[in-house]
Amino acid sequence: MPTSRFDLILFDLDGVILDSRSNMERAWRAVQNEHELTTPFEAYFAEIGRPFADIMARLGLADRAAAIETTFRRSSTETISQTEFYDGMADVLSRISGSSVKAGIVTSKDEIRARLVLERLDCHFDIVLTPRADLRGKPAPDALLYAMALLHTDPVHTVFVGDMKSDHEAAKRAGIAYAHVDWGYGDPVDDDRHRLSEPQMLLTLLGLD
Ligand SMILES: [Mg+2]
Repeated sequence: MPTSRFDLILFDLDGVILDSRSNMERAWRAVQNEHELTTPFEAYFAEIGRPFADIMARLGLADRAAAIETTFRRSSTETISQTEFYDGMADVLSRISGSSVKAGIVTSKDEIRARLVLERLDCHFDIVLTPRADLRGKPAPDALLYAMALLHTDPVHTVFVGDMKSDHEAAKRAGIAYAHVDWGYGDPVDDDRHRLSEPQMLLTLLGLD
């Protein structure tokens, strides 16, 4: 039976568990309409994973970030219950949830939307970290380090599963392993040792298959 060195697995949400692209595209259209912006969705989407305010700064919209975020969140929340999980992901998460491996979520989605998504899954997460004032967002390592501290887990026994460069960088800066999913929204990273092409591979990574 395969064994794993990991006691804790932390997941990004969008592009890893949840296929939320169409939800975000709809929300960005509402932003374009209400704020009379021409910034294309693709420019926003290329940066997702970072804190919303950071993305706005990168798009030259820092001075309107709070108002834009209010519109975006409202529109996204309206259809968040219709977003789909990636095929096979719910089953895999359920398996992990029933194992001795601890599991958590580290996402840039706000708490309300993250909870609306996660309550549709039949699994227990030991920790769910959404943006908060006392922790820097990805690509800073703060939330990953905080999760490990709260769950009494060493970096060498922890892996973060993500889909964007900001996920990879956060894992590196936290000193933990990184697994990159091929089904997400980012480009492949150069030096990922764990590259996942289907959710089932998570079970292999954790020695649960
Ligand atoms: Mg993501």
